[in-house]
This record gives sequence, C-alpha cells and structure tokens, in this order.
Amino acid sequence: MKFANLNGERAEPAPKLKAQCPFCDSEVVAKCGKVRVWHWAHKSTKHCDHWWEPEKEWHRQWKNQFPNEWQEVGRRDDNGELHIADVLTPQGLALEFQHSAISREEVEIRTAFHNDICWIVDGLRLESSIKQFMEALKHAGTPNSSGAEVYELYYYDSRFLKKWAGLNAPVVFDFGIDELWVIGRSLENSALVYTLQRSVLVEQFKLGNRPPPVQIRAPRYRRSYGRRGVGRRL
Ligand SMILES: [Zn+2]
Repeated sequence: MKFANLNGERAEPAPKLKAQCPFCDSEVVAKCGKVRVWHWAHKSTKHCDHWWEPEKEWHRQWKNQFPNEWQEVGRRDDNGELHIADVLTPQGLALEFQHSAISREEVEIRTAFHNDICWIVDGLRLESSIKQFMEALKHAGTPNSSGAEVYELYYYDSRFLKKWAGLNAPVVFDFGIDELWVIGRSLENSALVYTLQRSVLVEQFKLGNRPPPVQIRAPRYRRSYGRRGVGRRL
C-alpha cells in the first residue's frame, strides 16, 4: 500500500517507519528496498484485502495522476467484505490497475463487487498480449460508428481481447505508449475498440466521466452463419 495511518495522518512509507493499516488497524511496516516500490506491508504478512496485489512502478504511475485522497479507498459489501479500490473517484467509479494474471471469473467477481468500475490493464505483462492485439488490428474491420475512429477486432485473433471483452464495465489496455486502447463495445465475435490519449483519459476521470461507449451510427446487419439473409442487428 502507498498509504498508512501514522499519528493520525495519511503517510507514505519511509525507511524504518511503522504505522497502522487504514482498513484493519493492524501494524504495517515500511518496506523501502531497491527492488520493489516503497510500500507498507502488514506485519502479519497477510493483507486484509485478499485481492490486493504487489504494486509495481506501473501501478504507482497511474495512481499518482489522481489526488491522494482518491487513492486506496476501501469499500465494503453488505457482508462486510473489504476491498480497496486503487482509485475511487468522487462519483463512485473505481479504477483498477491490473498487472498480475487474473482469471475471467475473478474479473467478473470484482466487477460485480465494485459495480461501477473501469479496468486498466497492463498490456505489457505478457509478450503474447501485444502480439495478439497487433494481429487483430491487422485484420480489423471498420464499423460505421460515430465519434473516434473505431476498429472491430475479432476474438479469434486475440484471446487476450476476448478475456476482457463483454464485461459490464469499460476496459482500457495500456501497452506502454501514450495511446491507450479502449473496448467501447463488445459483440458476439468481436470487440469495437478505439484509442484515447493517456492525458485525455485521466482528465475525463477527473471530470467524473468514463471512457465513452461506441455508438453505431446506422443499423448494421451481419449475416449469421447457416441462416442466409438473416442478419443480427448490432
Ligand atoms: Zn489491513
């Protein structure tokens, strides 16, 4: 964690400091080594939020773009189960910066827990992710959509894309460049994606907005397999 309670203040870790976890009140110690980013660790080693993942510089760079008081905000469900949003905007949107491997089932559980969430996925963790995404871009269709330039990427080109598509939440891929890729709409066999500048996305979150969904400008029919002439309206 980046923050802990120290003498009644929210404090960042510094060598040799001890403090209290803001969520479970147990003792946390500052870990200020050379390998991992400086962080607070529960002395008992078990984190009170079992979804918590060790943070990378990548997490911190994202978090640091938002006010401190928006970062690491705990939420409890009706059963009292605690989970900490990496960032929680005043509008109640949780931003989750996902670097570690995570199953689809787990993604769905966490999406349901937060209800209002935007996933930001580190697309550089696996080389295969970016390869698959580039492959899908090569074969992309260009649907008749309004607004930004939209590409239709097919799941059979990218398992990575399929894993993150179809959620009841916006998903943003960060491939380490200034342009982020956003899933703006998920279809049965494909996802409609567009790019957004990093600074624009951050600004929109600060204004209380979410990455906009893709709107289809005109009715569009696609022939379904095995049923000639019967199309599926998108
Ligand atoms: Zn704790």
